[in-house]
Amino acid sequence: MTVPLADLIAQYESIRDEIDAAIREVLLSGHFILGPFVEELEGGIAAFTGSDHAIGVNSGTDALILALAACGIGPGDEVITPPFTFVATIEAVAHLGATPVFADIDPRTFLMDPAAAAARITSKTRALLPVDLFGQTADRQAYAELAARHGLKLIYDGAQAIGATYSGAPIGAFGDATTLSFFPTKNLGAYGDGGMTLTNDETLRDRVRSLRFHGSGGAYEYSHVGYCSRLDAVQAAVLRVKLRYLPEWNRARRRHAELYATGLAKTRCVLPAEAPAAHHVYHQYTVRHPERDRLRTHLAEADVQSGIYYPSPLHIQKAYAHLGYQPGDFPEAERACREVLSLPVHPGLTDEQIHHVCRTIEEFDHDRA
Ligand SMILES: *Cc1c(COP(=O)(O)O)cnc(C)c1O
Repeated sequence: MTVPLADLIAQYESIRDEIDAAIREVLLSGHFILGPFVEELEGGIAAFTGSDHAIGVNSGTDALILALAACGIGPGDEVITPPFTFVATIEAVAHLGATPVFADIDPRTFLMDPAAAAARITSKTRALLPVDLFGQTADRQAYAELAARHGLKLIYDGAQAIGATYSGAPIGAFGDATTLSFFPTKNLGAYGDGGMTLTNDETLRDRVRSLRFHGSGGAYEYSHVGYCSRLDAVQAAVLRVKLRYLPEWNRARRRHAELYATGLAKTRCVLPAEAPAAHHVYHQYTVRHPERDRLRTHLAEADVQSGIYYPSPLHIQKAYAHLGYQPGDFPEAERACREVLSLPVHPGLTDEQIHHVCRTIEEFDHDRA
């Protein structure tokens, strides 16, 4: 039995007729960039995420850049964000000439610790950028309070968390903006790149809409320097089909997480914690293990794929050396990088495959106990 970390081909085959028809409809329409297919998807995503407005862009990275730009973030501004996330989060900050300022994570949830973030606020801080890592919402209440108290912009990187909720409210209901990625392996994945900025603020909506189209204010009129970052109609049509299945797929991920919680209870794995207000959608099912690398080899020998998200924290990456951080600055992020292992949790798995993963880990821990 083999257990893949993702299986996009099997997913396509399960909805092939609808996807093929949707793509053909776009090809026959002649509308390939923005247009009615993108607008329909924007409406569907806004409704699904509880946000007033959704603006389709080229990628999750661009969704962040445009959200930050629309919030007025620029040179000299500090943006507080975790060092344990995908690099795009801080890359977006850096591209605007602003400075990423790191705050360590909570070891139980892997999410930026609001108390650590509060301690990093200075007179130059302009925004907070928490990440809904692995599919679990960052603490919406704590960050809303912090942003209000210090007059900061609040942008959530929700790339991994479409479908997640906080105190029962979906992720688009909070902050100044929330960003999504439709990278193919995300919970809602396109067949190419795509992303969206969500906001409940009309001014921000209009700015992001303008920025994605060269800073255009009307026909060939440009009020500011913009970007070329638009969602295309083929991806929008694919995503519209998949959005209908997303609730079911996210439920399957949560069920797989429950099977793991039972199946791994007697192993040395430290299981992922779900914060009380959060409803996790398990973009990744990430455990900690004292012998992570050896366990990973053992799993590979049993044909079980696994992933390390992330093997190295961002504060010690060469590209960000100018920020002046040292190893040891964020001990929890660094420890997570040594201990985390993501197990297959995608909706296409069978119970037997998950039992196989659990048995393989049990075997490993038993042999070494
Ligand atoms: C995937 C991801 C992004 C970037 O999305 P792209 O669509 O690949 O540009 C940003 N932040 C996080 C946390 C991600 O997981």
